[in-house]
Amino acid sequence: ALCQSPGFDFFYFVQQWPGAYCDTSRGCCNPTSGKPPSDFGIHGLWPNYNSGGYPSNCDSSNPFDPSQIQDLLSQLQTQWPSLTCPSSDGTSFWTHEWNKHGTCSESVLTEHAYFAAALNLKSQANTLASLTNAGITPNNSFYNLSDVLAAIKQGTGHDAYVQCNTDENGNSQLYQIYICVDTTGANFIECPVAPNQNCPSSIEFPSF
Ligand code: 5GP
Ligand code: 5GP
Ligand code: 5GP
Repeated sequence: ALCQSPGFDFFYFVQQWPGAYCDTSRGCCNPTSGKPPSDFGIHGLWPNYNSGGYPSNCDSSNPFDPSQIQDLLSQLQTQWPSLTCPSSDGTSFWTHEWNKHGTCSESVLTEHAYFAAALNLKSQANTLASLTNAGITPNNSFYNLSDVLAAIKQGTGHDAYVQCNTDENGNSQLYQIYICVDTTGANFIECPVAPNQNCPSSIEFPSF
């Protein structure tokens, strides 16, 4: 049993749509392991406070150690790919996320448990299936934000939040999805505080 408070109040589980990451004016690069599936990728699992603030870079004595997640590597390459340029194998993205965010939940999740929790949350959320079941597909069409949110909620039972970015033509598009998770890292919850939201009522869902 955890005898001390975990040091944070909940997690944001954040997924990114690769099509939206890639079609901005900055472009993107496929990882060295190859083009990831046309599916949401994990951006991070971020400890947060109910106040809206968050801890970061909590323990420089516990830096990312790739040897601890060897068994998760092939799953991370497809489910948590890095699309920045130049092409990378993901290690720098996972290093950044563990050092900045993961170390702030180390009282509840070891490094291995942290990455395994994120992978489990992604399969539990099954976000792309929830959207396509509602007729919302990544085909460069525009959809009502309210329909997108309702479809994701249908899958998790809880409210989700969406952030948009803009493509080269200035269209707002589905970029990131936030879902809240309890401090065990295993269960979706209602968000104690909403993340920033910047989408208009109609948003593009770009292909990837
Ligand atoms: P941006 O300013 O691009 O939204 O966020 C930059 C980075 O700040 C994110 O990748 C993430 O590491 C961190 N960040 C932004 N908003 C939040 C938040 O609400 N909670 C937490 N824990 N981190 C955040
Ligand atoms: P946060 O925004 O979580 O602090 O940090 C994201 C960092 O990870 C940025 O420095 C960004 O360049 C790097 N990064 C590497 N690959 C990716 C990716 O595929 N998506 C995002 N959003 N950031 C990535
Ligand atoms: P990080 O410093 O925090 O690299 O990234 C800063 C911002 O630029 C984040 O919003 C990140 O998602 C974005 N970004 C960084 N590198 C790339 C890139 O190669 N392509 C795209 N499209 N965005 C990037």
